[in-house]
Amino acid sequence: MSSDGLDRVRALIPAIPDFPQPGIVFRDLFPVFRDPKALEALSAHLTTHLLNLPTDVDVIVGIDARGFLLGPLLAARVGASFVPVRKRGKLPGDVVRTSYAKEYGLDEVEIQKDAIKAGQNVVVLDDLIATGGSAKAAGELVRMIGGNIIEYLFVIELEALAGRDVLDAPVYAPIVY
Ligand code: AMP
Repeated sequence: MSSDGLDRVRALIPAIPDFPQPGIVFRDLFPVFRDPKALEALSAHLTTHLLNLPTDVDVIVGIDARGFLLGPLLAARVGASFVPVRKRGKLPGDVVRTSYAKEYGLDEVEIQKDAIKAGQNVVVLDDLIATGGSAKAAGELVRMIGGNIIEYLFVIELEALAGRDVLDAPVYAPIVY
């Protein structure tokens, strides 16, 4: 891991206790974006990973909102499209919608119907996986419009929450706490 600069990335991710609410230890990825060498190391690592998948990636689906940071950058590097999954009411045109339980109430997310062609190979991307609820919902949307999910990709995995167990395709995250 250290050979490709991921130690630099890991060292820049602070653990912020009790944010945004008591009991949550928040992992903030934004300091990595302030450091061009760390951002390049992370992008290069994830690009190499994506290019080494057994299947070509057609589409990277980024989850609102921090999946929008690395998503377009990686998509451009691997020659894929970038498609956002957004909170309800933000995307114009025909959309499909699903909902999932959060700690307080339901969250609703949408994807544009024509954003993925049937059978395209999709990687679902977010900054971090905790319970896996948001990635699972994004995966449902991708399937509803005919996408074939080849992987769920994160920068950070909170292992103790076992979020990967609710997902139905391989999971990759280079930084695990
Ligand atoms: P989950 O749906 O439970 O897997 O939560 C993942 C989503 O919530 C991601 O979009 C993360 O950005 C955010 N998130 C959840 N827990 C944390 C945490 N401890 N630190 C930073 N972001 C988090």
